[in-house]
Amino acid sequence: MQSSAEPAAAGASARDTGGSARPLADRIYRFGRMYWLDIAWAAFVALNLIAMRLSPAWGSVPFLVIWISLTLVYGFRLWHTGSTVLTVGVVTLATGGIIGWQVVRGEQDADYLAEVPLLAAMFVIMVWHARRRQSAMEEIKRVSEHNLVLLGQQRQFLQDVSHELGTPITIALGHAELITHAATDQAIAKDARVAVEELLRMRRLANRLVLLASTDSPDFLRPAPVDTAELMMETLHRWSQTPRRWSLGALTDTPVQADRDRLTLALDALIENAVEHTDPGARIELSARRAGDEVVLAVRDWGSGIPAADIGHVFDRFTRVGTGRSRDTGGFGLGLAVVKAIAQAHHGSVDVRSTVGEGSVFELFLPAATGRAGLASPLNRQALSG
Ligand code: ADP
Repeated sequence: MQSSAEPAAAGASARDTGGSARPLADRIYRFGRMYWLDIAWAAFVALNLIAMRLSPAWGSVPFLVIWISLTLVYGFRLWHTGSTVLTVGVVTLATGGIIGWQVVRGEQDADYLAEVPLLAAMFVIMVWHARRRQSAMEEIKRVSEHNLVLLGQQRQFLQDVSHELGTPITIALGHAELITHAATDQAIAKDARVAVEELLRMRRLANRLVLLASTDSPDFLRPAPVDTAELMMETLHRWSQTPRRWSLGALTDTPVQADRDRLTLALDALIENAVEHTDPGARIELSARRAGDEVVLAVRDWGSGIPAADIGHVFDRFTRVGTGRSRDTGGFGLGLAVVKAIAQAHHGSVDVRSTVGEGSVFELFLPAATGRAGLASPLNRQALSG
């Protein structure tokens, strides 16, 4: 019984030893990996303490090196308060002990001993500043993370509300349009048309809000190579029924990597504004040119222009410049904000130059595409521009 039990016990204990030896080795290995800098520094300090002890004449060099290295290591490690106090205490006692011993033996002047608490005090002040800075940084990080969450919630809310508005607006629009067609009473038909106009404005507002709220979503853009010249010609073609003197300026062959639908939306917003601020006989020009690494899509009008005082704000949300259009009939001041958001989503930018009474040039700067693969064959430019 005993002989059969012994190997079993021995076997069990052998397994136990193997089992606990491995975690112990692992723990030592992990400890070494985590604290290699602290261990290396402790060894370095020990060597310097030995040097202090062996060479009293040169003792100030290893003494100062110890404190400098402590400051350096603390900068990387930022130990907790307990570990910091313990480390400073040990270094103070060790260096002070050696110097004190040398003073007692007459190998050092007594005033040398005063350097120990002074250096310790200097280190403690440095620690205090480092901790203050660290907690300030943590607070900044916490606030910006909180702001990011709030921003996300705000965006989501805006997106949800705008989406939810879409359906009732469409239904109301359908009914109002029915009334305009069916009403025999002219007064009722006129009122219904007003309702249709307002509902159309609301739908545009909801669409623009949804777009602005979704600029950060990963599927905001579906980029593909876009032939800018072709895009400008198509856009001009679409608008050519609006009574203005339309013209096509310079066109570049350089494509851009862009979301064609979004670019069209931005161009339409610019052209809509140009139409709003020009008389029927006035000229509006579309062009696309290359400027360094960028392609510049421009909409130029010979219209009312924008006062210098307002020009810095026109791309801000809900900015409306008082050029005659009242709040009731004009836009919501989101068109140019949408243009800017689309440009920025493409890593581009927007710019405007304007003179009151002479007109405005709005420019959309987009990074030029490096390759030309996948471009649709150019349209017959002559036919469109003619
Ligand atoms: P809205 O939808 O109200 O037109 P936008 O963001 O498109 O808002 O434009 C902001 C302001 O800039 C508007 O008040 C508008 O009057 C002015 N603006 C925009 N484009 C032009 C332009 N081509 N000429 C003169 N004013 C313009």
